[in-house]
Amino acid sequence: MAEINIPIDGINLSIGAGMFAVDEKGSIFLLHSGRIGGGYPGINKANFLAWYSQYESMIEVENGTKVEKGILIGNVSQKEDLINGLIRYLRDVEYFKQLVRDPSSLNEGKVIRGHKGKPNKREIVATTYERNPKIAELAKRMANGKCRLCGKKGPFKDNLGRPFLETHHVKWLSNGGKDSIDNIVALCPNCHRKMHYLDNKQDRDRLTRIATSQRIS
Ligand SMILES: [Zn+2]
Ligand SMILES: [Zn+2]
Repeated sequence: MAEINIPIDGINLSIGAGMFAVDEKGSIFLLHSGRIGGGYPGINKANFLAWYSQYESMIEVENGTKVEKGILIGNVSQKEDLINGLIRYLRDVEYFKQLVRDPSSLNEGKVIRGHKGKPNKREIVATTYERNPKIAELAKRMANGKCRLCGKKGPFKDNLGRPFLETHHVKWLSNGGKDSIDNIVALCPNCHRKMHYLDNKQDRDRLTRIATSQRIS
């Protein structure tokens, strides 16, 4: 447990923002409400969740009669999963903060300066893009359970018993990319994250070729 406490302290999750959930098998998971602070206009829970939920879905947790939503960090009894989850989440939070503070340093997201009587207030505009689930499904089928970037099988089984993969728009929707099969590839969560952090040219070129080859004529 001591080793688990270190990253949690490092993340400085505020008291009350973390929560634990138990699934039907008795496994305990650490979740976070998304409540973050940064002492900077625009860095707050609502904006963070709006941004975050473009990429990851929230987990619904029953709490008595209430249903609360949380971000899944990791399985408490699996140290590696928990620590990886914490590191990933911390990076996400940092990435978001950077996105708000200095959007020009990142090539994603739309940030505007508000002028509603509050000079210099910046806010994130959460833009939701329409995604056709059938095309995402097609991209997953074409990948046949294997990540299009690293070639490895998805890390766990999805609810249909298939290796879990996520779908990624090679040219991001926020940059005008299309929601079509020649722009969508299935990736493992690690590679997906890599594309969003780095989006390096070599990887992108490779995925572009793969996506283009998926085009149905
Ligand atoms: Zn991969
Ligand atoms: Zn993506």
